[in-house]
Amino acid sequence: MLKCIEVTELATDHMEGALPARQALSVRLHLALCSFCRRHFRQLSQTVGLLNTLPVEHPAIATEERIVAGLNPAE
Ligand SMILES: [Zn+2]
Repeated sequence: MLKCIEVTELATDHMEGALPARQALSVRLHLALCSFCRRHFRQLSQTVGLLNTLPVEHPAIATEERIVAGLNPAE
């Protein structure tokens, strides 16, 4: 059986349906037996749901250029 730390690391991929079937089954089995991880998944799902309700804001182009320049100081 997967350990809690392994299930926690796989949570996002599992919620996105990105895990191979065998691994997804292992996660579901763990969730059936572990209230800690069920609570973690529920909180993660609520957080993602809340984030999806926020409007998508794009920075002004000048701001975006300054951010990119800061990320690539060699350029
Ligand atoms: Zn667990």
